[in-house]
Amino acid sequence: MQKLAIVGGGISGLSLAYYLQNDYEITVFEKDKWGGKAYTQKVGNYLFEEGVNGFLNNSPKTLELCEKIGIKPIKADENAKIRYIYDDKLIKLPSKPVEFLTSDIMSLKGKIRILKEFFIKPVCEREESVKEFAIRRLGKEFYRKMMIPMLAGIYASTPEITSMNAAFPKLKKIECEYGSLFKGLNKLKRGGEPTGELHSFEYGMSEFINKLKEKTKANFVIKEIKDVDELKDFDKIVIATEAYSASEILKKYEKLSDLLKKIPYNPVAIVGLDFESITPKSFGILTIKNKTLGILMDKYIFPNRNGIRAMLGGARYSEIKDLNEEEIIKTALDDIYEIIKNANPKITWLKLHKNAIPNYSLSHQKLVEDIFTEAEKFNIYLTGNAYNGISFNDCIKNSFELAERLKK
Ligand SMILES: Cc1cc2nc3c(=O)[nH]c(=O)nc-3n(C[C@H](O)[C@H](O)[C@H](O)COP(=O)(O)OP(=O)(O)OC[C@H]3O[C@@H](n4cnc5c(N)ncnc54)[C@H](O)[C@@H]3O)c2cc1C
Repeated sequence: MQKLAIVGGGISGLSLAYYLQNDYEITVFEKDKWGGKAYTQKVGNYLFEEGVNGFLNNSPKTLELCEKIGIKPIKADENAKIRYIYDDKLIKLPSKPVEFLTSDIMSLKGKIRILKEFFIKPVCEREESVKEFAIRRLGKEFYRKMMIPMLAGIYASTPEITSMNAAFPKLKKIECEYGSLFKGLNKLKRGGEPTGELHSFEYGMSEFINKLKEKTKANFVIKEIKDVDELKDFDKIVIATEAYSASEILKKYEKLSDLLKKIPYNPVAIVGLDFESITPKSFGILTIKNKTLGILMDKYIFPNRNGIRAMLGGARYSEIKDLNEEEIIKTALDDIYEIIKNANPKITWLKLHKNAIPNYSLSHQKLVEDIFTEAEKFNIYLTGNAYNGISFNDCIKNSFELAERLKK
């Protein structure tokens, strides 16, 4: 049997090892924690996710993997359907797009502008930023009130530095196929509502990671790989790390290494907290201009969580990575007091990811194409959230597809 080295024990590396366990003799190298950004920290009675909060149940590959390894995801509480944005005051988000027209989230002028979306010509021949796309199709007010918080919540980024084509390829495709988002979503009978429901596991994402490892026949080694030459004994190599780590490991291939370095990352600090009483009972709150990008009301979403988490920084406030623990917690507490009027936490917990999430910047798709073409020249394979999809679901799907290629 051929020997395969997988560098990186996040969901991308681990799911790849699972899919290929009967085809290769596999060794997975991880420098830190199994699960990478999918890691649950237990602090007394509290479970705090260091990264991934959950996943939508609209990706067949993730659900299939859960079934194969024998773990049952749990659905988020009904409260998770209630979401807010904070724009000097808390505003409840409509749960269905039609409710936009009756809610007070947008001015009358803003609502009329949204309806004009039906008649805006599509732009398909060139790439656009999320900002350009949103203002062009839905207007400035929608852009400010919806896209700024959404980008912070999903990508820890800002719409002006994010590529619409790379970050939301499905929406871009709908625009180009149907001429308008509303026409397309209507034809697809989606009505613009989310296509899946949020799920996680009873004891957090680490429960899944541990089970996945348990069901995978591979050598799991805690070791930082500093140079690809350390893997000379293997027939095939997959790098499933962050792009900047891949760049370092592959430094001997200068052009490939330089291309990988071009994928920027945004920092995120996560502060776990609990207070005597917390409202609103909901999934959470996204902000438009605070240093805290959002507050996740974990205790109202999944069992055993008990606390809440504030997510700070991102591209909006990248200085977060240079603050010390005390300063980060103070920043979170100031925002929490402003937004939900809570003070004097019973507990505080902090995780700082200096390089949390890759930014899908303008030209990201071309950059990824160049990276993959260059890597293939050296028989090196890459997978992970830096390339073709940022979500937990995307990582599993992409590793499945790579596994199918490596089986051939
Ligand atoms: C704060 C935060 C919240 C998120 N929330 C969600 C969410 O709710 N839902 C969702 O779908 N997605 C979420 N994501 C995105 C999600 O984390 C990722 O898409 C996915 O978990 C990434 O998995 P990965 O295996 O590609 O990368 P990672 O999890 O980053 O794994 C890469 C691994 O490689 C290891 N490594 C790096 N260099 C080396 C080396 N030289 N040698 C050995 N090992 C090395 C690292 O230690 C790490 O474990 C979130 C991300 C963050 C940061």
